[in-house]
Amino acid sequence: MDEGADYRNYTYAKYGAEILKQPERIAFQIFDQKVLHLLRDEYRIPEVTKVEADTLEELAEKLGIDKEGFVRTIAEFNAAVQDGVFNPSIKDGKCTKGITPPKSNWALPIDTPPFVGYAVTCGITFTFGGLRITPNAEVLDTEGDVIRGLFACGELVGGLFYHNYPGGTGLTSGAVFGKIAGKMAARRARQQGPAA
Ligand SMILES: Cc1cc2nc3c(=O)[nH]c(=O)nc-3n(C[C@H](O)[C@H](O)[C@H](O)COP(=O)(O)OP(=O)(O)OC[C@H]3O[C@@H](n4cnc5c(N)ncnc54)[C@H](O)[C@@H]3O)c2cc1C
Repeated sequence: MDEGADYRNYTYAKYGAEILKQPERIAFQIFDQKVLHLLRDEYRIPEVTKVEADTLEELAEKLGIDKEGFVRTIAEFNAAVQDGVFNPSIKDGKCTKGITPPKSNWALPIDTPPFVGYAVTCGITFTFGGLRITPNAEVLDTEGDVIRGLFACGELVGGLFYHNYPGGTGLTSGAVFGKIAGKMAARRARQQGPAA
């Protein structure tokens, strides 16, 4: 994956899918001292799977990964990093050239020990799958017909996302379709009148 393709919120779901394809569904994140202060607080919780080492070889050993392949990959990556001003708050265009996959932004050489490595895997935010609804939040049956009186919103609605998911849109979808579903259900109740 191009780790510098876009801001975190636009990439984390896609990167998670890539991690799921790896052996044992594990990937390793490597940082040097230049960027540690940029990590989110969740990298500092006591349960974190973190190792630290003064050399890349020792880091590979502690992570239990192929030492030679790791050191060679880091050297190739470092040599591919282009000049430019690193700025994590914009897409700074500081990229790699000549390696696959590329890193399109925020590419800095990994060269300032102690190095830090994290073994990471995936969590589930939501499934992307769920009930099919109309724009009025009415649930559709398997024939595509409205099930009268049944409305849905939030987590159990499917069909909004597929290959990727921009962070924040789960709650936005819940708020938008929640309001619509509530309004439509109230309208239907008014039309039907009080229950006998
Ligand atoms: C780790 C994680 C991180 C996330 N981060 C973000 C984010 O940063 N931004 C974002 O927009 N979205 C995020 N989401 C998604 C977002 O949290 C959900 O889209 C949202 O909470 C869905 O709300 P909901 O009310 O539809 O479902 P839920 O919040 O799941 O509510 C359903 C409720 O129904 C209850 N329930 C289930 N069965 C029964 C039953 N039989 N009887 C009674 N009660 C029942 C459950 O206990 C639960 O309280 C994240 C989700 C996860 C898991």
